[in-house]
Amino acid sequence: MMQLSVPLNFIGFIYREIRQGLTDIEQMFDLLDVDQEVLDKPGALPLAVEAARVEFRDVHFAYDQNRQILKGISFEVPAGKTVAIVGPSGAGKSTISRLLFRFYDIQRGAILIDGQDLRDVQQESLRSAIGMVPQDTVLFNDTISYNIRYGRMSATEDEVRTAAELAQVADFIERLPDGYKAMVGERGLKLSGGEKQRVAIARTILKAPPILILDEATSALDSHTEQEIQAALDLVSRDRTTIVIAHRLSTVVGADEIIVLKDGVIAERGRHAELLAQAGLYASMWDRQREASEAEERLRAAREED
Ligand code: ATP
Repeated sequence: MMQLSVPLNFIGFIYREIRQGLTDIEQMFDLLDVDQEVLDKPGALPLAVEAARVEFRDVHFAYDQNRQILKGISFEVPAGKTVAIVGPSGAGKSTISRLLFRFYDIQRGAILIDGQDLRDVQQESLRSAIGMVPQDTVLFNDTISYNIRYGRMSATEDEVRTAAELAQVADFIERLPDGYKAMVGERGLKLSGGEKQRVAIARTILKAPPILILDEATSALDSHTEQEIQAALDLVSRDRTTIVIAHRLSTVVGADEIIVLKDGVIAERGRHAELLAQAGLYASMWDRQREASEAEERLRAAREED
């Protein structure tokens, strides 16, 4: 029995991985407006973005009926402010960003942008109002310039360069033998996680969406790269309504509000200093991450000495 259960667990794991991969592909089709699962309601109007205020009002959501992922989540992102969502793995952080794009419909409650329920507006207009810097950016098999311009196809070469500079990726591109014409993607030059993320930031700068979702990379970046990326992210999110899905707490210190999700509910909320003072879940996550990153730094320093 024991012998059988291990491979079955493993198959379960692979199945979930594949399923998540398929979900991501589905989302990409959604973005390309192919095979929409969630349909516009008849007579839906385009989203009219004014201040770009986002509100989750008592949101209940489950991917399948047996397991509730969000159990009554309410929060608000005032115009131009930044709210960070943190919490243990699997708490539902990325689900919140999928719901804001309306990849799925919620079971109860409402999600509103400037008072308009997402179910009442045209999805195309909704998706063009939101920019996303994802965990892992897919690059097309094309030039790096094309990959940045994808944010706004009508952008000029000068605008592409300015976006690259603001995203702190211009120096890297200029050092490539073919510069902005260098081929990237699966069949071209492979970029590191940090470089890809900065290309995504440059894309988003060109798109200039009123609402921004930053889905932070889980993978550890070295502290120099992390600082560069943080500087680029601070710039792109300044004065823009922003939701940060945070895995590394160092990036949420400046957020206007931090929401701590656990078991489908908001366990704690407040600013960084307030949450540390509460000495609860956030404070213990903070301590754990600080210890882990200090240990990592010590290991790196020891390696460099060798
Ligand atoms: P992490 O920090 O690990 O990225 P998270 O907090 O972002 O986690 P989500 O990706 O929002 O977590 O997932 C929340 C829960 O929903 C997880 O238990 C996950 O397994 C489940 N889930 C995610 N996507 C789907 C899906 N397409 N179908 C069914 N369940 C899903």
